[in-house]
Amino acid sequence: MTEHGISNLSHEDRIFSPPAEIAAHANLTAEAYDRAAEDRLGFWGAAAERLDWATPFTEVLDWSDPPFAKWFVGGKLNVAYNCVDRHVENGHGDKVAFHFVGEPGDTRTITYSDLKDEVSRAANAFTELGVEAGDRIAIYLPMIPEAVIAMLASARLGAIHIVVFGGFSSDALATRIEDCGAKLVVTADGGYRRGAPSALKPAVDEALVKIDNASSAIVENVLVVRRTGQEVAFDSDIDLWWHEVVDESSADHTPEAFDAEQPLYVMYTSGTTGKPKGILHTSGGYLTQAAYTFWGTFDLKDDDVYWCTADVGWVTGHSYIVYGPTAAGATQVLYEGTPDTPHKGRWWEIVAEYGVTKFYTAPTAVRTFMKWGDEIPAEHDLSSLRILGSVGESINPEAYVWYRENIGGGTAPIVDTWWQTETGAHMITPLPGVTDAKPGSAMTAFPGISVEVVDDAGTPVGNGEGGYLVVTEPWPSMLRTIWGDDQRYRDTYWSRWPGYYFAGDGAKKDDDGAIWLLGRVDDVMNISGHRLSTTEIESALVSHPSVAEAAVVGADDETTGQAVVAFVILRESAGDGGADIVADLRNHVAKEIGPIAKPRSVMVVPELPKTRSGKIMRRLLRDVAENREVGDATTLADSSVMDLISSGMRSTS
Ligand code: ATP
Ligand code: MG
Repeated sequence: MTEHGISNLSHEDRIFSPPAEIAAHANLTAEAYDRAAEDRLGFWGAAAERLDWATPFTEVLDWSDPPFAKWFVGGKLNVAYNCVDRHVENGHGDKVAFHFVGEPGDTRTITYSDLKDEVSRAANAFTELGVEAGDRIAIYLPMIPEAVIAMLASARLGAIHIVVFGGFSSDALATRIEDCGAKLVVTADGGYRRGAPSALKPAVDEALVKIDNASSAIVENVLVVRRTGQEVAFDSDIDLWWHEVVDESSADHTPEAFDAEQPLYVMYTSGTTGKPKGILHTSGGYLTQAAYTFWGTFDLKDDDVYWCTADVGWVTGHSYIVYGPTAAGATQVLYEGTPDTPHKGRWWEIVAEYGVTKFYTAPTAVRTFMKWGDEIPAEHDLSSLRILGSVGESINPEAYVWYRENIGGGTAPIVDTWWQTETGAHMITPLPGVTDAKPGSAMTAFPGISVEVVDDAGTPVGNGEGGYLVVTEPWPSMLRTIWGDDQRYRDTYWSRWPGYYFAGDGAKKDDDGAIWLLGRVDDVMNISGHRLSTTEIESALVSHPSVAEAAVVGADDETTGQAVVAFVILRESAGDGGADIVADLRNHVAKEIGPIAKPRSVMVVPELPKTRSGKIMRRLLRDVAENREVGDATTLADSSVMDLISSGMRSTS
């Protein structure tokens, strides 16, 4: 334990080695680490060669003006061509790109040929509406094929898309449209959520009033997909139907090649710790790393059916639904709805029906299934699953083991992928054919990626010690800046330790040097001078048989400076937990990791405040724990949750 870093509390001894048949045929083997260590830039240059370049690049990296990177200098490519057309030209036009499953049960099969036609039509329609390279397109859609098509059409034109999660309010939409100056908005009448149509178009109308679009006329057109058939208000000056404009456009479109550094999209971070930042990603480097990590981390094979449950409104949907998998020519499932509509086995029914082989989700979803009970996945044939992925936060060891046993048949390796909106693609992850994985650890940097755990002085910590996670060398899919704010880009990420990218996350190296993510540095608690991370205490709580989910925060305390306050959701099998549940849980934490981490109070709650990507917004819980008015909650996936928490809380100190 060091005073300068973060305390190392937990101990986990379980290790799961790769199954022999995955190791024997793995796309990436141990050799990749050696090759990348010998010649990092050569390694990424070779990864970039897997894309089709209209003009080859002459230099892998220009880092002459840090922290502003230029990757694949001189190269020109078209991102959509790489994701779509080239597969058709290579004879894979009949391969399924997407098996779309609507929440009400409607389905659509989209081959790569179909995708090429649809993306071309949309690109022609956007051009007709005046969109040119560099213009911004806001996309506010449910999880339907048009979301993917609109993004790829934007990329095809060298325009910049800003996808706003369909669950966000008109306020969140308005600030993003204004911040990036979107000329076109693509939306739908609505989408299906929890068994009912849920309207989207009215939020766009409200957003345009909020930004006073009539006077400033930022947005010239709103293109509306008909999904639910709901009645929508139509302003004939700006509103257009997708099926009238796009479906009538030509399916012939010649993609233009753009510079490797052509901006591709702006994605706002989740806002877990503060105001969301508009993260800018560009073309060549981003696509290289998204496609290569997808192929390597998920060990893509020709006959794979891959399903990532993320929303396209989150960076995971960008890199691991829209760009990485299509650039790699994968077949995917795209599902519109919620996991429990019309029943709690819906996801597993889809896995069985389509024979999903690679599955990517967030720990929060895994814990929800733990809460619902083992018997639900057990009713479905999940034997097709070969590799499972996790993203969004550390996966608690207990949830990891549950996932492996109940979803992965006790054999599927789990890739716990650490990365961020800012990093664009996987940075730290096990490789399914190489790594002896430990539940709860993201293990090691991906080949070609250089990370360290450092103390306050920027000195690497030793094994068994905790500190701050940094990236020590630029990487292809790194953010290029914060949209419109280069200074904030420098200050936020590059100023704490010169030359290092500071991720904002705490981490530790275990005795073998494996990396464990410890949660946000902003969430670190200071208890009697000890700096404790949230992750390990939460994992200790989740290891109790009655607990499904847990969040801990540090609340002001007269004697200890801060005290640990825990919020827990119980498993359904635990009922109300019984009269002693609070005392039990406090003692359980003290026993698992030590008396210093024993929560001062435990509150049993029905829900936790989460972002669209399932991350817990601890800053809101801190407000509750310190009896303050709750702060900015605009990026919550469900804004009613905070009321639910205050009213449904059962607390004992
Ligand atoms: P903001 O930066 O606005 O607070 P955010 O950080 O929640 O929002 P994202 O970029 O979606 O927005 O999330 C990235 C963060 O998610 C990482 O910094 C890390 O804290 C967490 N994270 C993602 N994957 C993992 C993982 N496999 N293990 C641990 N933490 C993870
Ligand atoms: Mg962040």
